[in-house]
Amino acid sequence: MSGEELDVSVCVFGHGDRQLDLKIRPRYPRSGMSNTEEAEWKYVYLESISKNIQHSGPWDCEFCGKPARVTLSSVASYRDRPEVYVYLHALCSADPGPCRTAYNTKEREAAERAGYPNYAPSPYPPLNDPARPYPLLASCAGCKKDSTADVAPWNNEGLMRCSGCKLTRYCGVSCQRQDWPSHKKFCKVAGHPSWKGEATASQE
Ligand SMILES: [Zn+2]
Ligand SMILES: [Zn+2]
Ligand SMILES: [Zn+2]
Repeated sequence: MSGEELDVSVCVFGHGDRQLDLKIRPRYPRSGMSNTEEAEWKYVYLESISKNIQHSGPWDCEFCGKPARVTLSSVASYRDRPEVYVYLHALCSADPGPCRTAYNTKEREAAERAGYPNYAPSPYPPLNDPARPYPLLASCAGCKKDSTADVAPWNNEGLMRCSGCKLTRYCGVSCQRQDWPSHKKFCKVAGHPSWKGEATASQE
């Protein structure tokens, strides 16, 4: 593997003041990629690692406080900064409804502030799409069964946390082992998670 490192700053927003900040430094697969290739690779890479970040705790919907099943994301880069910023918003559902409307409004306002007045959030596959079920973010990152979802708080009771990244949670060693070939692409480039919001002390 050669090529430059990409600086990614991830920010996850949950209910109340719950927030997670994380830096990831993956390497581009090769140097000299065109802008289009680079953008495509970034998109695919960020999609592929998102579950490692989503399944990091009993996230609640940023807007209504119900258990979250989906994160809606936006990606931003700024001319004067080298990083790519990824903002993930935990939601109960991406389907049309009050939470989706609240998210769309927030996104549109942020885009306007950033100088993109014509921004329109893209539609998302509906939650009841059997081809793409949305598991609870509180569940195991491996099997994603709702039954593994930890109703206990954000500490390490219940689901175990990967000892490498101290972020992704599993119901047991077998799920962790099975997921490792995919998880390692994230785990090896992830920095220390930094939590904000209540019960922060129990994270460490
Ligand atoms: Zn909601
Ligand atoms: Zn599992
Ligand atoms: Zn890990």
